[in-house]
Amino acid sequence: MVSTDVIVVGGGMVGALTAAALGACGIDVVLLEKTAPAPFDAEVHDLRVSAVSEASERMLEAVGAWDGIRQMRLCPYRRMLVWESQSTAQTLFDSSTIGLPHLGHIVENRVIQLGLWQQLQEMDNVTMVCPGQVDSLQIETERVVISSGGQEYSAALVVAADGANSAVRSMANIDVEGETYNQHALVATVATDEPQQDITWQRFTPNGPQAFLPLSGHRASMVWYESGETIAMLKQLPDDEFLRAMESSFPERLGGLRSLEGLGSFPLKWQHANDYVGPRLALVGDAAHSVHPLAGQGVNMGMLDAAALVECIVDQHAKGGDIGSSRGLRRYERWRRPQNNVMIRMLDGIHQAFQPQSHAVVISTLRGFALRGADKIRPLNALCIKLAMGLEGDLPQLARGRLPAGV
Ligand SMILES: Cc1cc2nc3c(=O)[nH]c(=O)nc-3n(C[C@H](O)[C@H](O)[C@H](O)COP(=O)(O)OP(=O)(O)OC[C@H]3O[C@@H](n4cnc5c(N)ncnc54)[C@H](O)[C@@H]3O)c2cc1C
Repeated sequence: MVSTDVIVVGGGMVGALTAAALGACGIDVVLLEKTAPAPFDAEVHDLRVSAVSEASERMLEAVGAWDGIRQMRLCPYRRMLVWESQSTAQTLFDSSTIGLPHLGHIVENRVIQLGLWQQLQEMDNVTMVCPGQVDSLQIETERVVISSGGQEYSAALVVAADGANSAVRSMANIDVEGETYNQHALVATVATDEPQQDITWQRFTPNGPQAFLPLSGHRASMVWYESGETIAMLKQLPDDEFLRAMESSFPERLGGLRSLEGLGSFPLKWQHANDYVGPRLALVGDAAHSVHPLAGQGVNMGMLDAAALVECIVDQHAKGGDIGSSRGLRRYERWRRPQNNVMIRMLDGIHQAFQPQSHAVVISTLRGFALRGADKIRPLNALCIKLAMGLEGDLPQLARGRLPAGV
């Protein structure tokens, strides 16, 4: 039996951040991950990318992963333009409004994961088990015991960071509420005629939003939200027809699309776990919540979970308490669940507001007011920017750029 302080299940972006922050705070960790990320390839851009907020950047910096990520590849953006296809209403968000050099960075998910894994591999108190998954989970009064590939691991706490279909969450009998959207996301990596500017573009159409996200050099990531049938049809198109369809949706100043380098689609749902914690167990990231990706908040919410949970664990550890006790864990749940609930409802509300509806004229007028208001009313514009950057609310230490020291 291998004994440790915390077992983290899932070494994706959120699980790897959790393990790295715990490790950096002197807590022993075993990290179980099913599949290792493929090594970085300077020639190939990954399909899956994330808009990494300022708060997430600070967390990655605090655990020492940001430099490695920067050395691999990222693309900063300073502005974001949001507009509606059926009116002239639009909102521009510019980081200079709140005196910061950028709004965020577009980074490939694998690059974030690899940057964290590089740090984890250098930590003596973190043991990485990959490939490794949970064959059984046994929660006892004093310990939790996980069996994986014939080996048993025992700890004071297990953290489930194993994604939206979390096996650990199911084994712990934690239910979720949620709904499947009538939209899928079509994601394409494209080579562009022009080098990318420091701006992300998002257009709302009656069928769903369409986003154009800059990648480094002559590359961009395009995301179209459409019905499953339309996406299946778009995926069948020959490359040049597909590119012309994409091109026609965005302003001419973006320049032409040269080639299609990657294409995939994802079904969408919102989902929220009824409990974030149970006896000797905590959920983080997509294991706890999934959101509509239209505002690029999913992993950023997960990273804030990781930061809050690590702070609660470190506080409990510093007091000499049991880090798997309900007391510390309930504090984590009270901290993060209501905030995530607000974000889930807000993103769902934005999605609903742009759906075709019976009171179309009224809703369209309200949308116009909202977009113009967010553009022209400076304090409102600044508040939206801060929310998207993860800089509003009760921020954990890690999101302020420092490791929690413990109370
Ligand atoms: C189209 C699209 C665009 C998006 N864009 C953005 C964006 O711009 N910004 C943003 O913040 N978010 C975005 N998101 C959301 C974001 O991708 C997710 O929120 C994020 O990947 C969640 O990270 P995670 O580490 O919690 O889970 P995952 O990324 O799902 O990682 C879970 C990990 O656990 C491992 N695992 C699973 N089961 C087991 C097991 N039983 N044992 C061991 N390991 C296991 C998996 O292999 C994986 O490595 C987007 C999502 C979609 C669909």
